[in-house]
Amino acid sequence: MKKVILGGTFDILHKGHQALFNKAMELGGDLTIGLTSDQFAREMKGEIFHNFEKRKENLETFFFQKWKKEVEIVKIEDIFGPTIKEDFDYLVVSEETFGNALKINKEREKLGKKKIEIVKIKMVLAEDKKPISCTRIRNGEIDSEGNLCVFCKIVRGTIKAFKIFEDEKFLAFLDKNPRNPGHTLIIPKEHFRWVWDIPYAGQYFEFVQRVAKAIKKALKTNWVISLVLGDEIWHAHLHLIPRLPNDKFYYSPPPVKKISEEEMKEIQRKIKKAL
Ligand SMILES: [Zn+2]
Repeated sequence: MKKVILGGTFDILHKGHQALFNKAMELGGDLTIGLTSDQFAREMKGEIFHNFEKRKENLETFFFQKWKKEVEIVKIEDIFGPTIKEDFDYLVVSEETFGNALKINKEREKLGKKKIEIVKIKMVLAEDKKPISCTRIRNGEIDSEGNLCVFCKIVRGTIKAFKIFEDEKFLAFLDKNPRNPGHTLIIPKEHFRWVWDIPYAGQYFEFVQRVAKAIKKALKTNWVISLVLGDEIWHAHLHLIPRLPNDKFYYSPPPVKKISEEEMKEIQRKIKKAL
């Protein structure tokens, strides 16, 4: 049986990873996965979502469910892992990690070992033809299959919406679950997780202002509330909802919490310090 190795962080398993796994399984059943330690993963990627144990468990579950197979997973603290000491027939990499594979073979050459055959997999692209990555998934921009978030789809026109107004950077459209007639959502065309992430937030709020004034005029109300939540769809957005007499509008945030004065002071200190 051919010995195959591949490596990575595999923070959130996605279609790109699956392409690697499929190739590895095609090449031979004896598979070793080098899984980055938490420290090494953070050095390379900055933030990670799942710790080593969880990432390992997800991989094991994935292989067991798909191939009824147990794979050997070894913790790696650098790009080499076991590839320096042990021999393998194939090293499966993505375009992104191809450079590391070359380094591994160079190192092996220095040690007088024969090269491992490198098998490079084409980068799997998301709906927008950009690579699928854990960062983008974590940010809600795409799902693990590479489908774009629903608001990005509206921007691209693959999902229809009642558009109100748009410019180069922003789009206003009617919420398809309106709380009142004229309930409008305002989004940046570029995907950001939170409104606070928009680098040009000032321009964003100027756009919001323009639309809010138009709603006031059109719906003949002086009462246009704005809501910024962000939990429902992971693409920065703001709701403008015109209030009308007796419209029974209510929303229910979590209950009021009792926080001691001491704790309040501590929270105040923390936030002030961070500013
Ligand atoms: Zn989006």
